Amino acid sequence: MNILGIETSCDETSAAIVQDGVHLLAQVTASQIDLHARFGGVVPEVASRRHVVDITKVVEQVFCDARMTWSDIDAIAVTCGPGLLGSLLVGVSAAKGYALATGKPIVGVHHIAGHVAAAMLAWAGGTGATPPFLCLVVSGGHTELLTVDSDFRFARLGGTRDDAAGEAYDKVARLLGLAYPGGPKVDDLAHRGRPDAYVFPRALLEDDGFDFSFSGLKSAVNNEIVKRRNRGQDVSVEDVCASFQAAVVEVLVEKTRRAALHTGARTIVVAGGVAANRGLREAMSKMAQALSARVIFPPIELCTDNAAMIAAAAYPRAKAGRWSPLTLNAYAQLPLADWQDDHWPGGH
Ligand code: ATP
Ligand code: MG
Ligand code: FE
Repeated sequence: MNILGIETSCDETSAAIVQDGVHLLAQVTASQIDLHARFGGVVPEVASRRHVVDITKVVEQVFCDARMTWSDIDAIAVTCGPGLLGSLLVGVSAAKGYALATGKPIVGVHHIAGHVAAAMLAWAGGTGATPPFLCLVVSGGHTELLTVDSDFRFARLGGTRDDAAGEAYDKVARLLGLAYPGGPKVDDLAHRGRPDAYVFPRALLEDDGFDFSFSGLKSAVNNEIVKRRNRGQDVSVEDVCASFQAAVVEVLVEKTRRAALHTGARTIVVAGGVAANRGLREAMSKMAQALSARVIFPPIELCTDNAAMIAAAAYPRAKAGRWSPLTLNAYAQLPLADWQDDHWPGGH
C-alpha cells in the first residue's frame, strides 16, 4: 500500500510517498528556515502564506522523484493537528482537494503520532522499531513519555509542565545570540565546552512521576549570563551550552530509564527534533545498554518535521480502512488520546 503523506504543521512544506508504512520511496521538503531566521522564530502568518506557494510544487516533485502517478497511490495522509492553525489548514485543504479530485481516501494524522512513527521507518542499515515500545517524544512543542502498544495506540506516562525540551534549546540559543533554530547550534557548541563548568538545575528529578519542567533551567542560564556580564566576566558560550545540555540530557535519560523499569519495556524509541541531539543519543544509548534494552532513534533527517513520518503513522489506520471524512478539519490543539479515539474537537 502506497501512502502520500503531507505535512505543513509549522515551517516545513513536506510531501512523501511511503510503501506499507515502512519504506520511504521519495520525500520532498521545502524548508522556510531562511524566511523566519531574521525574525528569530516562526511567524505564523508568513509560514501559512509560504505553504500556499509551495504545497503543489512539493507534491508534484515527490511524484517525479518516485516516478509515480496518482494511480500508484492508495491513500492520502495529512497532519491535521496540533500545530499552527493557518499552516495546518493549507495541508488539510490540499489533501481534501486531492482526495476529491482523485477519489483517494484520506487519513488525518496527529503530528506527534507522526514523530513517533518516524522511528518505525526502515532506513539504510536499520529496520526501524515495531510496537510495542516506550517512547520519549522531544520536539519543539512537546516533551512526553508514552507507551505505544502493538496496535499503535498511545498511553501517556507524563510530560512537561511548562517548556518543551526543544523550546528550552531555542530559548537558550536566543539568550546566547545564536541564530534560529538554535537547537543544532547549541548541540555543536556543547561538544566544545565543559559540561561541569556551570551547575544548572535538574528539575523534578527527586519526583517519582514522569513529568518534566524546563522553564527554570532556561531562567538559570539567563541569570548566570547576566550575573557574569554585570561583573565584567567572560561567558564561555561553549561551556554554557555544554552545561545546559548536560542538565537537559540527564533529566531526559533518567526519567526514561525509570519509565523503562516501570513498564518493563524492552525497546525505547526517542523521537522529535531533539532526538537529533548527539549528546542525548550517546547518553540514551549508554543507559539502554545498561538495562539490556534496545534504543531506536529515527535517522537524523527524519527527527524534525517531515511527511514520511505522517504517511507511516497513517498506515495502521489505512490498513484497517479507518478513513477520515472529507469534513476533516485542522486543529491547533489536538490531544493524542482524542485523535486515537476519533474524538475531534467540536465534532465533524
Ligand atoms: P512539535 O513537533 O512539538 O509541534 P516542532 O515541529 O517545531 O514542534 P520538531 O520539528 O520536532 O519541532 O523539532 C524542532 C526542534 O528540535 C527545535 O526546537 C530545534 O531546536 C530542536 N532540535 C533540532 N536539532 C536539535 C539538536 N541537534 N539538538 C537539540 N535540539 C535540536
Ligand atoms: Mg521545523
Ligand atoms: Fe514537529
